[in-house]
Amino acid sequence: MSLLNGPRPTSGLTCWCQDMNVKSTAQEVCRRLREHYGETITTRRLEPVAELVLTILSQNTTDVLARRAYDRLRARYPDWEDVADADEAQLATTISSGGLSAVKAKRIRRALREIRERTGGLELEHLREMPLQEARRWLMSLHGVGPKTAAIVLLFSFGRPALPVDTHVWRVTRRLGLIPEGTSRERAHTLLESILDERCIYHLNHNLVRHGRSTCRARSPHCSSCFLNDLCVYGAGRAPESDGS
Ligand code: SF4
Repeated sequence: MSLLNGPRPTSGLTCWCQDMNVKSTAQEVCRRLREHYGETITTRRLEPVAELVLTILSQNTTDVLARRAYDRLRARYPDWEDVADADEAQLATTISSGGLSAVKAKRIRRALREIRERTGGLELEHLREMPLQEARRWLMSLHGVGPKTAAIVLLFSFGRPALPVDTHVWRVTRRLGLIPEGTSRERAHTLLESILDERCIYHLNHNLVRHGRSTCRARSPHCSSCFLNDLCVYGAGRAPESDGS
């Protein structure tokens, strides 16, 4: 058993980030993921408002369907002002391919209107230089924006060290013991960022998603062949023969 693979303290700490054992494990996990999957340099995908809208469209659907809904939205409403002022039912019809269209139309319209009211325009550039946690809180105060959506905008549009915790990141980091059992996905954002190096945050989302899809799958994870096994709380108790396909 690795020295890193000891029991993870869950009490007596005022902050998860004070747990040096967890921090050491997190560092080693990052290193191995980088070695195995490569170092993904996170680049800007879309301008911040576009990224925000695309991320809302991505909620509870696939990337492909979200992108299709986004392309239809941009074709019908080339200007964000048009989206903010659009008829909600028509907006929902336009983005229907992404699912939950009535909810998403309301979220998008309200978020854009809130941005316009607070900034006087439809852009988010003021967040670029704002302290990270303040920028996160600003985004999360918008209608329909939770920690994952805020982190996506901060990471992918602004290139800032925020970690989006999707279902793969949440599952794999829980199994590894990097966050305590029972941690909500919302809380996981803060806990993980508190134990990770900034450099690691830039590629961890991408690499954990790859690992979650290929090896640490929700059902039948391939623990016996996993290169993180000796670091993993869940994997340590799994015999090779218990692996499925
Ligand atoms: S050892 Fe198993 S549970 Fe742990 S990260 Fe690897 S596949 Fe996931």
